Amino acid sequence: MTTHKILIVEDEEHIAEVLIAYCKQQGYCTEHFNSGQDVVNFVKNNHVDLILLDLMLPDVDGITLCKEVRLFSNVPIIMVTAKSEEIDRLLGLNLGADDYICKPFSPKEVIARIQAVLRRTQQTKMNIIYQSGFEVHKEDYVALLKGKDIGFTAVEFKIFLLFISQVGRVFTREDIINAIYNQALDMSDRNIDTHIKNIRKKINEIEEGVNPISAVYGVGYKFKEIL
Ligand code: CA
Repeated sequence: MTTHKILIVEDEEHIAEVLIAYCKQQGYCTEHFNSGQDVVNFVKNNHVDLILLDLMLPDVDGITLCKEVRLFSNVPIIMVTAKSEEIDRLLGLNLGADDYICKPFSPKEVIARIQAVLRRTQQTKMNIIYQSGFEVHKEDYVALLKGKDIGFTAVEFKIFLLFISQVGRVFTREDIINAIYNQALDMSDRNIDTHIKNIRKKINEIEEGVNPISAVYGVGYKFKEIL
């Protein structure tokens, strides 16, 4: 079994200590930050399985951090707030957090929530990609933008999945053909261009002006994160 790494962002020292102790007891390894400034960089450069994120931090607040992390990562986030009445407001902000816990909490409850979120995300993580407002259900051949079905054909879906699975990577037309067809029967470069055109058109039917697939001159195409 692999050890889960929990990132604890908490400026109240005694709370952090208790959380770290309970996480360790549970067999998780932990990383602790008592402020927000280094969190985004850390998550970009290190593997983290879950973030326990305090809302009120001395520098960058938890809401901003949650939004920043969501721009590039689907890592599970549990937000911790000192005010229970704030949870409704947080939910309304659609931050993409996986759960909310209110202080004061019992460490046992926190562990139970962590376990639940990890279980849930592990089940879905294999099959769904969340990226730049898109939600791609690999097994169902369904891609959503802002919750609406884009309506890709099977081929369009495969191309889109290829791009969104490797954000930023440039694919040549040949890469695309090799990746989506077992035998490159009569697929030509122009076919690929047509599919890309249709993919863009369907995305724009849901949201005008959104174009995550950009052409790389003389090479091919890539998926560019929408910030
Ligand atoms: Ca705090």
